[in-house]
Amino acid sequence: MTALTDPDLFRQQALVDGDWIDAASGKTVDVVDPASGTTIGTIPDLGRDETRRAIEAAEWAFASFRRTTHAARAAMLEKWYGLIIEHQEDLARIMTLEQGKPLAEARGEIVYTASFVKWYAEEARRIGGSTIPAPQVDRRILVLKEPVGVAGIITPWNFPAAMITRKVAPAIAAGCTTVIKPSEFTPYSALALAVLAQRAGIPNGVVNVVTGLPAEVGAELTSNPAVRKISFTGSTRVGALLMRQSADSIKKLSLELGGNAPFIVFDDADIDLAVEGVMASKFRNGGQTCVCANRILVQRGVYNAFAERLAARVSALNVGPGDAAGTQIGPMINRAAIDKIERHVEDALAKGASIMGSRPALPDGDHYAAPVVLANASTDMLLATEETFGPVAPLFHFETEEEAIAIANGTPYGLAAYFYTQGLKRAWRVGEALEFGMVGLNTGVISMEVAPFGGVKQSGIGREGGQAGIEEYLETKSFHIGGL
Ligand code: NAD
Repeated sequence: MTALTDPDLFRQQALVDGDWIDAASGKTVDVVDPASGTTIGTIPDLGRDETRRAIEAAEWAFASFRRTTHAARAAMLEKWYGLIIEHQEDLARIMTLEQGKPLAEARGEIVYTASFVKWYAEEARRIGGSTIPAPQVDRRILVLKEPVGVAGIITPWNFPAAMITRKVAPAIAAGCTTVIKPSEFTPYSALALAVLAQRAGIPNGVVNVVTGLPAEVGAELTSNPAVRKISFTGSTRVGALLMRQSADSIKKLSLELGGNAPFIVFDDADIDLAVEGVMASKFRNGGQTCVCANRILVQRGVYNAFAERLAARVSALNVGPGDAAGTQIGPMINRAAIDKIERHVEDALAKGASIMGSRPALPDGDHYAAPVVLANASTDMLLATEETFGPVAPLFHFETEEEAIAIANGTPYGLAAYFYTQGLKRAWRVGEALEFGMVGLNTGVISMEVAPFGGVKQSGIGREGGQAGIEEYLETKSFHIGGL
């Protein structure tokens, strides 16, 4: 482990009711550095019993936490925010070690992680309610906003810290308590954030972290009636499973699932700006993001100019370990990820695609995937229908706006879409026609704490971030007062 300024942030135990625990069975799961393939450490492989204890702790804590004032919860969140910023460097190093992303990106993710805590510290004070004019003179009707209760929070490996606070910060602001199950590939960022939550004075039982393989923990979280809410970010396949498992106890659900983002470049686009947009949206985290451009659709008139400029940029990308100076693309999370990328590229080449420019050199070892621009992609290729989740930029031709919209919307997913044009009328037409939860016009960056983030169709249910994010943790109660 790289030396940390504060070694106490690196925890290899789970957190239940303020206590750091091992699995009752003694079982552990190894956590591997994706850059070297070596084991960084272990985490307890918890089962149903420990998960039930964590839920009980959260339920018990909820009884008093729901009665804390908004100002008190805002103050705790402010303190947590300050500690995250103060420990940005250590948190970034832990993240790069377990997830592989370049250190500069990890530092950026910690700022993004903290931004949710700050935003929801502020939003906590604005949880209001309303009054409704009653149809009878002797009645009054109030609308109250109350915390949902215990929230089960299940997060993926690609944003190991930000996906925690995007859920936990609004939950705490609303007065909910949480049981977090981080990805078994990247648990240490979540555990470090939990250490800082304890130091911020967030009471025992409000933030619990259960670690290990997902099946047993997930089965308990989704079936236990004390859990009133499941907030999940991950694949559509697992999201659908959790939805089914949650059905018997009718839980509220937030599902942030997979995407298949189109990135459309029209003839009237600023080509350099569009190339910048692809670099930001496609290659961040080595292409391992849910909102990354999966299908780049380029209108015939600018296709060659765009493809050449993009290929020149991609050929110059620097691939290496996340902690090496100058690295722009780190290792992929594991071998299965690399296999999928290779399968997609081979399938595309077999179906008529060709590689533009040269692919950057790879460091030794089999932990890396070479960035590539693929010309002449077509909709029958695997990369058109599945998330590649890697540094592969396939270019599709199109002739007309209608054709581009039809291709863009021709997917069961609806998370993010991007398009580039300088035409005002087209900007409105296309922006409104795209069936996606988030649309970027002349920008490849759409994730920030102030705006709602989420998808339509099979990309999910609910929104995180912005004012909408806190609603996911609030129930609406109408309170009728009669006989006045
Ligand atoms: P995943 O679905 O495999 O795993 C996500 C989480 O679910 C992990 O913590 C995992 O341990 C857990 N899980 C797996 N099986 C489970 C089960 N049976 N019960 C309970 N929990 C279970 O996804 P991943 O590979 O970690 O992440 C990549 C996916 O996440 C991609 O599809 C990506 O698009 C999506 N994603 C979506 C968003 C978004 O905001 N929409 C953000 C990031 C990632």
